[in-house]
Amino acid sequence: MMNIVIFGPPGAGKGTQSTKLKDKFGLVHISTGDVFRALDPSSDLAKLAKSYSDQGNLVPDDITIKILQSEVEKYPDAEGVIYDGFPRTTAQAEALDLFLTSKNSAISMALALEVEEEELRSRLKNRAIDSGRPDDADPAIIQNRIDVYNAQTAPVANHYKSQGKYVGVHGIGSIDEIFDRLCDAVQNKVT
Ligand code: AMP
Repeated sequence: MMNIVIFGPPGAGKGTQSTKLKDKFGLVHISTGDVFRALDPSSDLAKLAKSYSDQGNLVPDDITIKILQSEVEKYPDAEGVIYDGFPRTTAQAEALDLFLTSKNSAISMALALEVEEEELRSRLKNRAIDSGRPDDADPAIIQNRIDVYNAQTAPVANHYKSQGKYVGVHGIGSIDEIFDRLCDAVQNKVT
């Protein structure tokens, strides 16, 4: 089973590249951001999640971990999973390891898209034009998402580095160039 975490700051291209990796390697793509956005907007859970995400803050770990686990349970026959936007804290990374261990499985690798902050800000500003996401539209919220990433998510890299599973990939270039680098990284890991 191939379980890949795609890791990187907001605007790094995780969603775009996950979709391509999913197709190429026959994986299930689980994006916690997409799961939160797909909740029935009138539900208490959706309102709670939105109160965090609209400000660019992380939804609390206990809620996010439960959501992730129930999403994974929907695909008992998956050949593998690409985790996009999860884990975003070290506590989430530890919870994911325990959860997968309970299923006799494990993360195969964490693929990290490395992109400088200036480039992220400009990509997120452009994405706001057609994404319709409130958390893309406001420069202060974009900055908060980058700050939250630096404070809470960037340390997750150490979790995977200490397990020898972290693979950094240069995240600047055309979508296809970056995709080729990611595919090489996956193939190097599995062969
Ligand atoms: P994304 O689509 O991955 O940019 O996620 C959008 C928003 O959903 C984030 O800014 C968070 O508010 C929330 N979110 C998504 N994934 C997580 C996670 N793993 N932990 C906490 N909050 C999350």
